[in-house]
Amino acid sequence: MMKATNITKKQLTEYDLNHLWHPFTQMKEWCAQDPLIIERGQGNYLIDIDGKRYLDGVSSLWANIHGHCRREINGAISQQLSMISHSTLLGLTHPPAALLARRLADISPGDLRWVFYSESGSTAVEIALKIAFQYWQNTGRTSKKTFLCLREGYHGDTLGSVSVGGIDLFHKIYSPLLFNSYKAPSPYLFCREHGLPLDQGAEPCAQSVEQILGQHHNEIAGFILEPLLQGAGGILPFPPGYLKAVRELCNKYDVLLIADEVAVGFGRTGTLFACEQEGVTPDLLCLGKGITGGYLPLAATICTDEVFRHFWADYHELKTFFHGHTYTGNPLACAAALASLDLFEKDRALEVLPEKIEVLRKGLERLRQLPPVGDTRQVGLMAGVEVFKDPNKLEPYSLADRIGHKVCMKVREHGVILRNLGDVIVIMPPLSITLDEITQIIESVEMAIHEVCP
Ligand SMILES: *Cc1c(COP(=O)(O)O)cnc(C)c1O
Repeated sequence: MMKATNITKKQLTEYDLNHLWHPFTQMKEWCAQDPLIIERGQGNYLIDIDGKRYLDGVSSLWANIHGHCRREINGAISQQLSMISHSTLLGLTHPPAALLARRLADISPGDLRWVFYSESGSTAVEIALKIAFQYWQNTGRTSKKTFLCLREGYHGDTLGSVSVGGIDLFHKIYSPLLFNSYKAPSPYLFCREHGLPLDQGAEPCAQSVEQILGQHHNEIAGFILEPLLQGAGGILPFPPGYLKAVRELCNKYDVLLIADEVAVGFGRTGTLFACEQEGVTPDLLCLGKGITGGYLPLAATICTDEVFRHFWADYHELKTFFHGHTYTGNPLACAAALASLDLFEKDRALEVLPEKIEVLRKGLERLRQLPPVGDTRQVGLMAGVEVFKDPNKLEPYSLADRIGHKVCMKVREHGVILRNLGDVIVIMPPLSITLDEITQIIESVEMAIHEVCP
């Protein structure tokens, strides 16, 4: 048994290091050490091929919601598996897709109602951009062809979503391939640069948006943003009131609001959807990551009747939305999503969040006291801890130091899996995390920062 496992591990390592190109990974760095091979999951833990357990501190890249290998979700998937694994939504429908569309229409904010499925957050965003673009073409306002987005925004890695992305490190090199978009400042960084407390930032940040909309609204089809918190840009919260102000500006200037809740959706910010916290209904809502509880690839773009009705016409009018993917609305994935929504009720997943959010807040307060930590940020169960070379001047470490990465590698030795964004240590556990486990994550970060930061 032991021997077989060792052989497998060695072979797997060899196969990986020789053939597998990992996402967002400098492969030279990757190949310099043996990979950690995760073989199983159990609740909030990942278990490697040697049986060592790690807390999943970033929800397997912001996806997992209720823990791994939950009987209810596994059961729903295998039940669907015994019916059919895939059937198309082009010209046909199937029970889980219809049931889930109805459930999503029920739970999504305001009058969002029409659900267009795809498989990843990036495609959910592509679809929102294409719908928003075509909406104005179909209504005859054909000059509205471009988009407004935010600096430090992240909406996925396909070229359309990169065109509305604002992270230079990831996006800049592709600029010759992208369509132009207008970019408003990242609200959090705007406040930081102007020395404004976040709670006074809504109005000046909204003004920076209005400057662009006032001048260019005739060209702008939609404003896409990650509501309440820019995730991949570095866990950057919005000033309270900013989202609501943006909604009002979009109304004033006839621009569709596209809320990308791929990261913040499904309870991560403390409410089922982030938009709820400011009473905002977007015209288009993008969902992904946590929609299946983090079990299978599925995404959804949901729009209002007002958007949908401008695609409703006789075929020859050519107002059809000509878009779809082979696995659009995959039945296994829809079944997992339905089971995940049931678990929100069964586990009372949202009701028990405030206590967890408070324990995380106190933990961050403690980390904030560590000398290299210049900033901590949190919305709900999403948090970032930023380390600096000189935290008083917010002077960063050099790129070559790889400090954030090193901290996360050290955290691993303490039995927790985390992933950094630059020098921001991201903490984003499943909603099913326990109070003790949150404390364990905080302690692992504290030790690692002590051990790694010069
Ligand atoms: C992760 C993410 C995406 C992209 O989702 P993928 O499934 O990785 O394509 C889009 N928007 C936001 C806000 C995200 O965090």
